[in-house]
Amino acid sequence: MMSKGLVMTGDWKEQISVEYAKLDNFEAFLAKIWEMSLTAFDQPREVQVVIDADEKLFMTHGNPGLVWFDSPPAGMKIPVKCWIHTHPFGHAYFSSTDWATINTWKPIMNCAIVLGENQRMTWTQNSDFTHYERWDYNGIDEAQTTLDEYEGEE
Ligand SMILES: [Zn+2]
Repeated sequence: MMSKGLVMTGDWKEQISVEYAKLDNFEAFLAKIWEMSLTAFDQPREVQVVIDADEKLFMTHGNPGLVWFDSPPAGMKIPVKCWIHTHPFGHAYFSSTDWATINTWKPIMNCAIVLGENQRMTWTQNSDFTHYERWDYNGIDEAQTTLDEYEGEE
């Protein structure tokens, strides 16, 4: 059983939805997801946000290791625009379980983003590449890696 812990910020989902509704600032939306991951609960917890084909948000939280949903939430329309989740311990990379999720869902998923501390990794359906960015020191460190390279590590 996954522990959900205590929710300290009762409206954390609303706060994320408000940022998303602005639409003109995707960065602020991602920043809010990261902020809620660190502050909305009794301890930093993984937050997962799925943007469906109708721009509707489906949000859950839990321990690190939370991946996707046990079954697609009622009302979720595919293809999924983006699956976003946090790694509250700070490192933004797709774990082997994350890759399993991407591989399972990629026929009906356009984008996956993992958020860390001042860093993120993005996978997009079009290129099947991942894009890594880190910006906690001067300049931005960027790299791209193919899905195949990651699969080779497992
Ligand atoms: Zn992950």
